[in-house]
Amino acid sequence: MKFYVDAMFGNLSRFLRVLGYDCLLRSNTQNTDDYFCKVIEENRIIITRSRVLYNQARKRDIKAIFINKEGIVNILCELKRKININLTCDPNNSRCSDCNGLLVKTDKNLIKKEVNSGTFEHFEEFWKCKSCGKIYWEGAHWADIRRKIKQVKECVGNEN
Ligand SMILES: [Zn+2]
Repeated sequence: MKFYVDAMFGNLSRFLRVLGYDCLLRSNTQNTDDYFCKVIEENRIIITRSRVLYNQARKRDIKAIFINKEGIVNILCELKRKININLTCDPNNSRCSDCNGLLVKTDKNLIKKEVNSGTFEHFEEFWKCKSCGKIYWEGAHWADIRRKIKQVKECVGNEN
């Protein structure tokens, strides 16, 4: 599954990328026809908060998901229910939350100059975005993501 999410879903696109999904974020200025063309061309699924956009997409037989929940945990629960998204959080299978590029594990000595010394000392594993070069490690940010994903699993699990 690949996604193309509405401009207001910046946070969701970051989470989907961390979960390993190829996810583009629609820009505020992209017109609907261009958006739909790209979605069809790349066989993506639209995620939107707009009922109007959702209906337009369905009319053209484009896969779309309408979300009216608030908060990332509730939104991910909804996606788990509707399309059974993967909830495994593994940096070896993640994408860059900034640019959607693929992450590759990198020898820590190669990125020594690119992270601060505390981070360098404290962590052994690092990943680098193939597209924008951003460096990732399982620090506080990752812990926060894992916590939220755990909440999603709990809330969905309780319904079964
Ligand atoms: Zn990147």
